[in-house]
Amino acid sequence: MNKRDYYEVLGISKTAGEDEIKKAHRAMVKKYHPDNNPGDDTAEEKFKEINEAYGVLSDADKKARYDQFGHAATGAGGFNGGGFSGFGFDDIDLSDIFRGFAGFGGGQPRRRGPTPGNHVEITIQIDFMDAVRGLTRDVDVAIKDTCETCKGTGAKPGTFPENCRGCNGQGQVRERRQTIMGYMETATTCKACRGSGKIIKDKCGGCGGQGKAAKNRTIVVKVPKGIENGQHIRYSGQGEAGDVGAPRGDLFVRILVAPHKLFARRGNNLYMEKNISFAQAALGAEITIETPYGDEKYNLPAGTQPGTTVTLRGKGMPVPNTQNKTGDLSATLNLVVPKSLNEAQRELLRQFAAEEGENVENLSNGRKGFFGKRKK
Ligand SMILES: [Zn+2]
Ligand SMILES: [Zn+2]
Repeated sequence: MNKRDYYEVLGISKTAGEDEIKKAHRAMVKKYHPDNNPGDDTAEEKFKEINEAYGVLSDADKKARYDQFGHAATGAGGFNGGGFSGFGFDDIDLSDIFRGFAGFGGGQPRRRGPTPGNHVEITIQIDFMDAVRGLTRDVDVAIKDTCETCKGTGAKPGTFPENCRGCNGQGQVRERRQTIMGYMETATTCKACRGSGKIIKDKCGGCGGQGKAAKNRTIVVKVPKGIENGQHIRYSGQGEAGDVGAPRGDLFVRILVAPHKLFARRGNNLYMEKNISFAQAALGAEITIETPYGDEKYNLPAGTQPGTTVTLRGKGMPVPNTQNKTGDLSATLNLVVPKSLNEAQRELLRQFAAEEGENVENLSNGRKGFFGKRKK
């Protein structure tokens, strides 16, 4: 891919200042706006190229990185990988999972120039076993996108937003006042244009002058193995569209994992209770323990006590972001006492007690309601 130099795209020198960059961008947008060049695919490509270049050069941080590293700085890991309007929406890549997500929207610092798009959060619920195996799911979402009618300008096709006269297109009004400390200059957001620097006289019918309209799209959500309840997956640059020339927000997919009827998770380990009988505990037995990966045989030694914990290594949750690491599965053994016995079983237990040296006279006959009857 042979990308043109951003300065070349805007037709300016590398020493161009903030105002010069802005001016050049405005002139280029006018010239190559798709509405002024109907049916001209190269104009549309140019329009995108211009906005991309402006998105970088109008942002002090990005510009500094671009000046140092060139286009390499705009690749993956550079500017969050593909965060600009005009980039393909199809190449969604899983870039980050993280905990402790602390809200968004409105949290982005105000800055001069075009406003970046808002972050968007959606929530999907998955089964416990999907968290074990990982999952790819198509999710339909409506996300604010650049309006197709006006290409994001907010102006009726054929018209253009005009520079705000109240602030000279700056979005801010500077006031110089004399105080006892001398002259003070304060900058406030322009009321006439609400800081955008632009006034739209003829609003676009497609978006009511917003430049953006909700658009349905299908997001391919890739849930990695081992994801925890409440974690987010971040898709950089897949949130709401920003103003023309500004990056899109991010999309956060919050994953809710339904609880499992058998397994409880703590960290990457799983915990469960396993019922065993008195005979199994006393004699020892081969028992079957359910795991997320299928049943496992386990040899219970003779004389196993209730409350004993059996740990199956590597049968817990996959550890996120690792190749083959897995936690353990711990099964706590629960001794089940039969609630009803037949006469043969009762007789065998009395014999067993006698063998143990217990006082058989003190044993009840094992029938339900026995004690109630005897009290009479
Ligand atoms: Zn529009
Ligand atoms: Zn203004």
